[in-house]
Amino acid sequence: MSAAPASSRPTSIGVLTSGGDAPGMNAAVRAVVRSAAYHGVVTYAVHEGLRGLVYGGDLIRPMEPAETGGILHKGGTVIGTARCKEFRTREGRRAAARNMVDRGIDALVAIGGDGSLTGCDIFRREWPELLAELVEAGELAPEKAARHPALRLVGLVGSIDNDMAGTDMTIGADTALHRIVEAMDALRSTASSHQRTFVVEVMGRHCGYLALMASIATAANWVLLPEQPPADDWDVQMCRDVKAGREIGRRQSIVIVAEGACDREGNPITAESIRNLLEAELGEDARITILGHVQRGGAPSAFDRYLATLLGDAAVEQLLNETPDAEPQLIGLRENRVVTSPLMECVQRTRAVSEHIQARDFDGAMKLRSGSFHQSYQILQTIQQAAPRRTAAVGRRFRIGVIHGGGPAPGMNAAVRAAVRLGLDRGYSVLAIRRGFRGLRRGDIHEMNWMDVSGWVSEGGAEIGTNRFVPGVEDLPAIAEQIAAHRIDALLMAGGWTGYEAAHMLHAHRDTFRELDIPIVCLPMTINNDVPGTELSIGSDTALNSIVSDVDKIRQSAVATRRVFIVEVMGRDSGYLTLLSGLAAGAERIYLPEEGITLDTLTADVHAMEENFRAGRRLGLIIRGEGADPVYTTGFITSLFEKEGGELFDARQAILGHIQEGGDPSPFDRIHATSLTAHCIEYLADQLQSGRRASAMIGFQSGRLQFTDLTTYPVLVDRNAQRPIEQRWMQRRQLARIMGS
Ligand code: ADP
Repeated sequence: MSAAPASSRPTSIGVLTSGGDAPGMNAAVRAVVRSAAYHGVVTYAVHEGLRGLVYGGDLIRPMEPAETGGILHKGGTVIGTARCKEFRTREGRRAAARNMVDRGIDALVAIGGDGSLTGCDIFRREWPELLAELVEAGELAPEKAARHPALRLVGLVGSIDNDMAGTDMTIGADTALHRIVEAMDALRSTASSHQRTFVVEVMGRHCGYLALMASIATAANWVLLPEQPPADDWDVQMCRDVKAGREIGRRQSIVIVAEGACDREGNPITAESIRNLLEAELGEDARITILGHVQRGGAPSAFDRYLATLLGDAAVEQLLNETPDAEPQLIGLRENRVVTSPLMECVQRTRAVSEHIQARDFDGAMKLRSGSFHQSYQILQTIQQAAPRRTAAVGRRFRIGVIHGGGPAPGMNAAVRAAVRLGLDRGYSVLAIRRGFRGLRRGDIHEMNWMDVSGWVSEGGAEIGTNRFVPGVEDLPAIAEQIAAHRIDALLMAGGWTGYEAAHMLHAHRDTFRELDIPIVCLPMTINNDVPGTELSIGSDTALNSIVSDVDKIRQSAVATRRVFIVEVMGRDSGYLTLLSGLAAGAERIYLPEEGITLDTLTADVHAMEENFRAGRRLGLIIRGEGADPVYTTGFITSLFEKEGGELFDARQAILGHIQEGGDPSPFDRIHATSLTAHCIEYLADQLQSGRRASAMIGFQSGRLQFTDLTTYPVLVDRNAQRPIEQRWMQRRQLARIMGS
């Protein structure tokens, strides 16, 4: 990016939401307004999307940061969206240009789908001509036109389909997945009571993202995607698979169909046709559920709030730093990093997928999808079978032990389920070690079968048990004996801090105890996100959603009063949950264990809060990590704010406690637990088949999957503080300050 000289920076920017609404759009608007204000720039909200630009008047008005309070948790878009025919015409766009220049706006953040972003790009390209036409018609003073020679444009993608190139996730897709998974969990219980089959249609005309991910997250039996039509005899295969499932004891069958699904000839496959097929073949009722607009609705998920906040802030940075004639950029998230890519290239790549599908070039369409899309599709095909493939039992029947360590993390059951099925499918035996490393010492070890893990993907808690026991050197002989007795060839440890400590303990003593010299892989599963070798651990997304929905309720409870809430969240000595929930729930202040709390900060924060309430604020939200400070406890801080708030506000504390570790795992946690486990099994298989015995920690680093040698564990952690030395998420600290100000 070429930096713009300060003098040519825009002094006001416009923000609009356009096309179909998507949950998280409000968070993006809020972030744009607050980030712009932080940089001394005024934001004009353009209401009703592109129609607002064309009609102007009261539809384009300044939005103060205070006006963006209380919108983060709302679905849809509070500034409105509309389809606008007039914007497709030059006259319409000319009117839009005049409305912008009249207000001194020549920079625009457009939040919408590919249609809206295309329209805005046309507008940007025509801008100089539109202004010249306005000058010629006497509608615009030449000197005013000269002050705005170009329109700066950045695009954010708001779309529930996750159908846009240039970003791994679009704003709204995660929430849509939440809605689908909630609905399917509910369906599963009724389907199972009546031994019924459900055909569920989800959105996605050209993109099977929602259908594919929902299938992984809910253990559907079959899925039909637009970009990967099934083989010609799919109808026979599907009925055979559903029947096989019934025969081995599945009480319910679910088929998911994306609305754009078709066969290899391009003929649509509808929910109706699937139902008829199943009824005819199985001779029992099949019911159709079309989820429709429910998928768009409801409160945005924690991830969508975070993503939209991150991207909204980055959009402002982009507008303020680029030169006026720069090519417009799309801001997205790739491999967990904010990235900018040329807007129109992204639109064209997106459209290419639909063109390939229309031309029945499905391989071409699939090639344009990401690597993780392919992998997820393959994993799903193995895991949703009714039984392991018969051809799989080749080579030695290795025995893999699965164990947890640390607190329960949502997604643990999904990981065990994936390990059992993927292991059995390779012809291995999979042994569940119950009750963590204590169970390993005692020999509480059981061989698992395919159907033992049926239904586990959606369950919270840890069916095979977990605890925080870390074996000492004195426990190692008994552990070595059990590993030998059960002929365990490799270990998958899915857990948190103490699980990592325990796994490393075994690994570090492999020279003393020959039995411990086996490949071990550690899979990060902890709500605290405090283990090394990864930027993200499974379980934390569920915990964040739990915190955010509790804070939403707390907000509602405080509507009638003038109150400051001090909410304590878990995380031990890691502030990940604090920072991320602070961003996603909209906290004014956060107190992190990494920074501690001082008397000076508290004093300054009390004064700042008083000022805000004097200026009309009705609710204050502070999030404090449980390990933030041993002296300035949540109770202490609440008393301090209560006393100092006087007539202005009262203060209450809410300690969220263990509910954060429980609940149904979020779609992300189910999907990541499944896909990371698949990679872990592959790693162990690779070691076993080649006779190597390396051990590793799997994780996402720079958004990519990496294996870090377990031997390096001690140098990657601060054992006193019980957290990794490198915590990349701390880079978002400043964003939390900007959003809270
Ligand atoms: P989405 O942004 O969700 O893809 P649409 O395709 O309906 O939604 O586009 C939303 C609006 O964007 C349209 O109503 C129209 O105003 C504008 N738009 C879309 N395509 C164009 C285009 N080619 N030229 C001008 N405006 C367009």
